[in-house]
Amino acid sequence: MTVAHPHLLGLSRAALSDLIRLWGFKPVHAQRVWRHVHAHGRDDVDRITGLPGGLIDRLRAGTALAWLPVVRETVSSDGFTRKFLLGLDDGRQVETVLMRYAGRVTACVSTQAGCAMGCVFCATGQMGFERHLTTAEIVAQVLHVARAAHSAPRTPHSALRNVVLMGMGEPLHNYDATIAAAQILCDTAGLALSPSRLTLSTVGVIPGIIRLADERQPLSLAVSLHGATQETRAAIVPVARTWPLGDLMDACRYYCDRMDRHIFYEWTLIDGTNDCAEDAHALGALLRTQRAHVNLIPLNPTAGYDGTPTHIKAARAFQAILAEYGLPSTVRQRRGIDIAAGCGQLAADR
Ligand code: SF4
Repeated sequence: MTVAHPHLLGLSRAALSDLIRLWGFKPVHAQRVWRHVHAHGRDDVDRITGLPGGLIDRLRAGTALAWLPVVRETVSSDGFTRKFLLGLDDGRQVETVLMRYAGRVTACVSTQAGCAMGCVFCATGQMGFERHLTTAEIVAQVLHVARAAHSAPRTPHSALRNVVLMGMGEPLHNYDATIAAAQILCDTAGLALSPSRLTLSTVGVIPGIIRLADERQPLSLAVSLHGATQETRAAIVPVARTWPLGDLMDACRYYCDRMDRHIFYEWTLIDGTNDCAEDAHALGALLRTQRAHVNLIPLNPTAGYDGTPTHIKAARAFQAILAEYGLPSTVRQRRGIDIAAGCGQLAADR
């Protein structure tokens, strides 16, 4: 993927139309290019049919369209999870995951190479921040998974339906590129993902949450909490010192009110750290007045953290306490752990 020319995957439909009009071609040609690139997944200008030869020449000379090369693909032992190590132009690498559930395929996509947030249990946090991904690099990951979903042995429901921005990086630390990518992915003349099926997960970057609400960005929001007191949370999520729990809850309430929707709260269950009855009661009390759904995720192992996952029985007991507060919750299916493709396990240096 070159940076010398605009990358077609990083242009909105309006920006692409402007560019093609500037070159003296018709809007219908811009529409055709857009559909071939985003709806049909063409990764080579020469494979776009029905265009004037002059436009093909301009696109070839003045834009880029190459997708991210696959450096390595790993498949979980149960066959439901495929992890792709993808190469970037500057030699860096990111990971993207395809997860197949009954009736749906989900893409877990990265928004940064590395991450600056430093959550203690997370392999990406352990590698530190390298750089933000561009809009084109984010879109390219989703198109790659969409194609891979179709290339596997066909099932009746093999199309990509859900995208979670929960891979490497903090999406709200790379706000503009991430939101531009989300808008491209949801464009009805392209991949046409439903905004509500595109979930952005943040560790609690308050200015970004406020901005999502003020701009009324229609995607779903997940907030990684992991602790229901400032002390517990700050020990797991260092940025809680910058954006304290009380302020985060104010921002979340503001978001729910303005967007008229609920928030998913992610809670990594770590044995003996944040999984006792007291933690569950604190979480229940914290969220009881909010429109919330809690996703409980037993810790996935990483080399740089010696915590252990909560046993499933204890996870169910935690869930039962949340129910006493009227708080809906799900113990998330663990997928792809044997290939380090689970939550908190992505890192490009293996
Ligand atoms: S959990 Fe997310 S925000 Fe935290 S270090 Fe990992 S990638 Fe960054």
